Amino acid sequence: MSEARSKVAVLRCEDYSGEHVCEVMKKGIDLIGGIGSFAGPADNILVKPNFLHSAEESKAVTTNPSVIKGMLRILSEAGYRKVKYGDSPGMGSCRDAAAALGLTDGLYGASIADMDEAVSVDFPQGRTARQFWFTREITEADCVIDLCKMKTHALERITGAVKNAYGFVCGRHKAAGHVKYPDDVSFAKMLTDIHRAVKPRLHIMDGIVAMEGNGPSSGDPVKMNVMLFSADPVALDTVFCWLVDLDPMLVPTNYQGQIAGIGTCKEENIEVVTLTDDDREETLSREELFRRMGNPGFNVPRDGGGSFLSLFSGAVKKLSRPRIDTSRCVHCGICVGHCPVPGGAVHFDNGRDKPPVYDYTRCIRCYCCQELCPAEAIRKSIL
Ligand code: SF4
Ligand code: SF4
Repeated sequence: MSEARSKVAVLRCEDYSGEHVCEVMKKGIDLIGGIGSFAGPADNILVKPNFLHSAEESKAVTTNPSVIKGMLRILSEAGYRKVKYGDSPGMGSCRDAAAALGLTDGLYGASIADMDEAVSVDFPQGRTARQFWFTREITEADCVIDLCKMKTHALERITGAVKNAYGFVCGRHKAAGHVKYPDDVSFAKMLTDIHRAVKPRLHIMDGIVAMEGNGPSSGDPVKMNVMLFSADPVALDTVFCWLVDLDPMLVPTNYQGQIAGIGTCKEENIEVVTLTDDDREETLSREELFRRMGNPGFNVPRDGGGSFLSLFSGAVKKLSRPRIDTSRCVHCGICVGHCPVPGGAVHFDNGRDKPPVYDYTRCIRCYCCQELCPAEAIRKSIL
């Protein structure tokens, strides 16, 4: 029996001007069924962007505010009245992150969600994770719309639709998840359990300005000029990989997502569509998509896919480690304060006026410190 194909719409969008982004989003959503196929008229809707932490829009750390506003406007114009938006950042509050992007309460009738209250949710059918501390707002939403950002990620190589679900977990409980699921594969499996528990209905990726290199917070903004739309988070992330010439099977969230049944990373089961200049729907092969919209120079690790290295992935992981660029470190202590390892794996061994020092015998290589460093001073390096 053949599997159903997952549709991913990929549309060009060259800038963040509000009208243009909203127009592109309307067309993208229509290509995959229209907003009415994702949200019922009386649904409580939570729009979930990526607010990794408070960051200016130009850094490409967060989902761009134009994309968030575009989604809220589309929902408002379609008559949805019970709409909230927000994320539970790894550091700071949802309100602070929204404020840093110039977003306020009441935008198109939507309020900022209170993402600070944690609720324990049992999920006995989890493959890896059977209990979560979700934000209360996630448990009360009927329909979750994921607005993810196209970025690189030190642990999973990319962060897209599957990884963005970690924001469903209440911020102060995130560190414990990194300890419990310390490697890329177990973390990916846990993420797929979150998707199975929450079932976000619609995924939209902001790839207009993406982040390459030292992502997800300290990388370089790079124009990709695309937005992606799908009901299938795995297919959407797989198409992201195609666009940057990365083997999708190097990304654990892809193949674990396929195994968990939350989507497909098989090329034969993914249909990519776009619009012609006169707005006719057009199907694209993987090759044609890459020829028209791909970026072969996108800075993402493409090594480690060979069978030899795959067999020794644990050893390869041990060879990678976070390193501090001492010339950039401002001694803020955020890495020290947020390391999830009991007792910490990075300390001010030489005093507060010197950069912290890693204890690599304790470090589990979760890269939370790299994610949260405000000075972009931490990099993933190979021995
Ligand atoms: S978070 Fe970054 S800037 Fe702050 S102490 Fe750690 S390495 Fe230095
Ligand atoms: S030192 Fe950094 S990478 Fe190592 S366990 Fe702590 S937060 Fe994770």
